[in-house]
This record gives sequence, C-alpha cells and structure tokens, in this order.
Amino acid sequence: MSDQDRELVDVDVHDDGTAFTFGWLQAPNADAVLAAVRGDGPIPETGLATRRQLRAMGLRPGGQDPVPAPLSWRSGRRTAWLYRIELAKPKRTPTLAQEAALDRAMAQRQTCPKCGRRYFACLPLRTLGHCDPCEGGYTPSPDTVMHDPSPAGIHRLAA
Ligand SMILES: [Zn+2]
Repeated sequence: MSDQDRELVDVDVHDDGTAFTFGWLQAPNADAVLAAVRGDGPIPETGLATRRQLRAMGLRPGGQDPVPAPLSWRSGRRTAWLYRIELAKPKRTPTLAQEAALDRAMAQRQTCPKCGRRYFACLPLRTLGHCDPCEGGYTPSPDTVMHDPSPAGIHRLAA
C-alpha cells in the first residue's frame, strides 16, 4: 500500500479513535520542536516533526512510516507528513569521500581563477568572474582569505 492510498482517518497519534486536526503550531510538542529546529532548545523526546524539521535537528526518519496530519490553514486544509521524534534516528555523518566532494564543490565557488586565492565566502564568479580585490586592484583583508598561493601570501606565512 502506498502512502497516497493510506486512509487519513485510520491514523491517530493520540489513540483515541478520532481523526485529528492540528492548527498550525498545535501539533504535539510543536513549540519545543520549533525551538529545537531554531537551535533555541533541546530536541524534545517525543512529538511530531516534518522531515525538514528532523533534518534541522540532526535526525532522520529511520524507516518509520510518516503520520499524515491534516493541518488547518487559513487558506484551507492540507496534509503534512509528520514523523515521530522518538522513532527518529541520528542523521548519518557524511563519509570522508562525501566531505571531500563537498569541499571540492565549495573550493570551486570560493577560489578566484585570476589570483588563485581561496576565500571563506563564495565569489561572484558568474557575474564578475573573479574576486572583488582582483576587480578593484587591492589586497584582500587576510581574514577573508582561506588560502593565498601568491608570493606575498607565502612570504607572510614564512615570516
Ligand atoms: Zn582574485
């Protein structure tokens, strides 16, 4: 049976035999979940969260079936797929290979093709094609540069 075929009224987190309707922020522990998502509080031990909220808390659904929750909105009703926090599992940490791939992708966006400096921030490569200091002909402030291959940069490190 696919999730789409599931009868919404058959699922009830409160086990009281009735379908449940949550207004926005009225799901069990919604306040605590939102605080945890924002990093303002601990992850609640129970409650319901969307997949996106789980991810923000460093969790993943962990194989559980989502609970379809009809939510009341100002504009009407829609169904949100919620997961029980107590059944969620810690998010898998990325493998070294995944981290290396991510770093390569970031390096591409942070390295100026003209001067070769790698910055902590992404560069306007699509619009400018190089870093602001190259554009303006000035030396970047050192705290913005992650890696400086220029002779001046090497000299500064050796001094
Ligand atoms: Zn540059």
